[in-house]
Amino acid sequence: MENFAIYILLIVAIGVGWTIGRLSKVAKKRAISRGSIYQDYFVGLNFLLNDEPDEAIDTFIKALEINSETIDSHLALGALLRRRGKVDKAIQVHQALLARPSLSQSVIDATRIQLARDYITSGLLDRAERLLHEILSEDSPAQWEVLTLLITIYQTEKEWEKAIDCSRRLLKNVGYRKNSETRAAAAHYCCELAENMIKQEQFRTAREHIRRAFSFDRKSIRASFTLASIEQELGNYKAAIKELDQIRLNTPEFVSQVLGPLAQCYEELSNLSEYEKLLTTSLNKELDISVVLSLSDLLRQREGDESAISFLYGYVNKKPSLAGLMELLRLQIPNTDEKVSDNLKLLEQIVNRLLIKSSAYQCNHCGYESRKLYWLCPSCKKWDCIKPIVEAESAAN
Ligand SMILES: [Zn+2]
Repeated sequence: MENFAIYILLIVAIGVGWTIGRLSKVAKKRAISRGSIYQDYFVGLNFLLNDEPDEAIDTFIKALEINSETIDSHLALGALLRRRGKVDKAIQVHQALLARPSLSQSVIDATRIQLARDYITSGLLDRAERLLHEILSEDSPAQWEVLTLLITIYQTEKEWEKAIDCSRRLLKNVGYRKNSETRAAAAHYCCELAENMIKQEQFRTAREHIRRAFSFDRKSIRASFTLASIEQELGNYKAAIKELDQIRLNTPEFVSQVLGPLAQCYEELSNLSEYEKLLTTSLNKELDISVVLSLSDLLRQREGDESAISFLYGYVNKKPSLAGLMELLRLQIPNTDEKVSDNLKLLEQIVNRLLIKSSAYQCNHCGYESRKLYWLCPSCKKWDCIKPIVEAESAAN
C-alpha cells in the first residue's frame, strides 16, 4: 500500500513537472511565480525521496495550480489523500476544484463523485447521499457509478428497499445487466427483508421477498435456505425438503448446513427411512463427516451404541476428524470401565476444546475465519465468499 502511494505520488510529481514545463513555454510573463512553483516542486520531490510522503503531498497541493491541464493530477492527489486516511484534505482538494469556474460537466461529475467517496469514507453518509442524488437527478452519464455508490450507502445503513431500487435501476444498464455480483447482492437485500418478516412471523410476506430474491439471482443459496425455513414454519415439509435437497445437490460444501432442517422435516413426515436413504446416497458421492455423524445417529437410535460405534470407527479411521473423534468418545465412554472412562473423559475435554477453537467457516476471498456463517464477509465486505470448512474427501480416494 505504501509503495503504491509512493508510486501515485511519483506520477503526480511527473504531472506537476510536465505542467511546469508547459507553463514555462506559454507564459513567460509568469517567470517570477514559476520560480516559486519550481522551488515547491523540488521541495516536494525532496520530501518524497526522503520517504516523507505527507510533507510531499502538502507541497504538491501548494505547487499545483488548478487549470485544465492539472485537473487529473488534482483528482489523483485527492484519491491518494483519501486512501492515506487524510479525508479532510481530500475533501478540501475536491471542494477547491468544484469552486473553479468554467469546468466541463464531466469534470464536475467526476469531482463530485470523488467528493461523495470522501464523505462515505469519513462516515458522512447523509451528505454523500444528497450529493449523489443531485447527480442522479441531472441524468448524467455518471449515474451508473452514482448508483453503485448509493447501493454501498444503503447496504451500510441497512436500507434494503432503497438498495433494491438502486440495484434494479443499475441492472437496466447493458454493462451491468449480467453482473453477477450486483445480482447476488440484490438477492441478499431481499433475503434481509424476508428474514425481518420471519422474525415477525409474517411468513407469506417473507415468501414474496424470496420470490424477488430469485428474480435477481436464481441460484441464491441464502434465498433457498430462507425459503426452506419459511416452508418448514408453514408446515410444508415436502416443499422445504425439495429446497434443502437442491442446496445439497448444487452446493455440496453446504451439506452440513442442510442436514439439521432436513432431519426435522423427515421426522415431521415420519419418514426417517427416506432421510437415511438420502444420507447414504450423499455419502457414496462425498465423504463428509457431518453426513457420517447423521447416519451414525440414526443407526444408534435404531440398533444401539455398538452399531453406531463400529460404523463411525470405520469412517473416522478412513478420514480422521475432530468431530468424528468427539462423537466416538461420547459413545464409547458409557460403555467402558471406570479407569478407562476417566482417561477418555480427559481426552474428550481436550478434543472439545480444540473443536471450540477451530473455525467452522472461512472467506474464500480474504481468508477471514469464524465460528458463524456470515453471508456478507465482515472483513472484506463481499457477499457469498464465506463457506463452511469441509472436512471431506472423495469417497473414491
Ligand atoms: Zn472476506
